[in-house]
Amino acid sequence: MSFSSRRRNYHLVPHRKDELIGWMKSMLIHSFVLDALESTAGDTFSHFEQLINEHLHKSKSQDPPDNGSASQVSRLKQIVPTVGTFHTPLPLRKAFEVYNTKYAITKRKHICISFNEIRHILNLAQIMAFVEEGRRMRGLSMSYNEDEVEECMNNDNDDFHGPKLVTFDGDQTLYSDGANFESNSELAHYIYLLLLNGVYVAVVTAAGYEYMTEKYEMRLSGLLSYFKKQKLAEIKDCCNRFYLFGGECNFLLQLGCDYKLHAVKEHGVGGWKSSTRYLPETPSNWPEDDITALLDIVEESLTHSISDLKLRARILRKKRAIGLIPIKLNDQLPREGLDEVVLRIQTTLTSKDNANNINHLPFCAFNGGNDVFIDVGNKRVGVQILQSFCDIKVEETLHIGDQFLKSAGNDRAARDVCPCVWIINPDETTYILKNILRLAGVISHNDEETIQNADIDGDGGCEKKGASGNSSVTIGSNVNNTSMDIDEMARRSSLTEKMIRL
Ligand SMILES: [Mg+2]
Repeated sequence: MSFSSRRRNYHLVPHRKDELIGWMKSMLIHSFVLDALESTAGDTFSHFEQLINEHLHKSKSQDPPDNGSASQVSRLKQIVPTVGTFHTPLPLRKAFEVYNTKYAITKRKHICISFNEIRHILNLAQIMAFVEEGRRMRGLSMSYNEDEVEECMNNDNDDFHGPKLVTFDGDQTLYSDGANFESNSELAHYIYLLLLNGVYVAVVTAAGYEYMTEKYEMRLSGLLSYFKKQKLAEIKDCCNRFYLFGGECNFLLQLGCDYKLHAVKEHGVGGWKSSTRYLPETPSNWPEDDITALLDIVEESLTHSISDLKLRARILRKKRAIGLIPIKLNDQLPREGLDEVVLRIQTTLTSKDNANNINHLPFCAFNGGNDVFIDVGNKRVGVQILQSFCDIKVEETLHIGDQFLKSAGNDRAARDVCPCVWIINPDETTYILKNILRLAGVISHNDEETIQNADIDGDGGCEKKGASGNSSVTIGSNVNNTSMDIDEMARRSSLTEKMIRL
């Protein structure tokens, strides 16, 4: 895990906590202290599952909006007022049982379940939810066992039993902070398989270079090269299903058969702005005066913060964003200072007068690890536009990102409009995709040979470099009788666990 990721996610101070996971952890501590986790943890996760289900149904109901009365507010909302939106039921008990089978959490006497373990279980439950939806659609039982999952994976049905649109954050999700997607053939291979199976894929990133396509292509160079080596363009419509949204929701690009990114037409018939004008928050409904007013307010606040907090930083203003960056590229700005700047901006822009002045334009202020950026628009708008443009339902979408903290995370906005998975590095993204593909029936343990023989390096080879860079491993080498490769997750997360385990 990069240093900047730790700076963003290390849970030292109250504003850097996820209250839902914190509450779940506190509920499990009771049983841990009483040495009763083995007999009660499963039921506790069932209870979480019921509360989330109730919260989901309340928010989907046709009742008038929440008026603060107990009957309108879910029990979960009363317990955790900051809880976000859920879009699918989460089979948390099953996810916990799979995880516990591997890690024996309930056998531990001295170390209670950690924040990251609960995050992993929530992630597993979310991707298992897509399989359950597939089973529900086919009229199968919800109470499947592992054999049934294997059977599900081996069926000859052409349907892809997983999300139909997968959106990815860029930095720290597909590649390390500030780096490019250079050579990560395993992750590239899984994204390629998603496209091959009819899934729409989009990178929804804060990086905003307007329509200077070569700059985005540079960030994704390894991925685009991989597509070219695999001759993705020879398979009908595959390239066209790959999008990139720059500046959160401002600049939409699409992959062409030349393996380059091209600006999608904004206006006129089929234009993405024209066709999504009915969405209240879409950029085509933003008056230019409001955008200028927002950027002016932020610039004033940033200027004051630099002076007030004695930050060795300067301001970078773009067309639809404004940032505070170090004066010298390699200088480190203090994390506390960056968080303070973000919270000042959020307070300033949500104050009644300013919110009215900018007509409640959507915005996103976030700590980028060693800078602060404020974008006009956010990932809620970006994902919603993609859902509309590609005609994909909310519950068929999955967003994968690394910043979900309420105070300073730019992926959190996506939670409003689709199920999300919270990862902390590109290795965890790879693990999540692998399990989505397994559960969706694209790859399985029984298909190990097929995967190994796949030309994942695009040069005729069938092996890839291991994490150490000097050992050769094959995908799916950890075969056991579970549909999820928990061993792999352990390897991928071990360093991170050591650094941010609570
Ligand atoms: Mg990120």
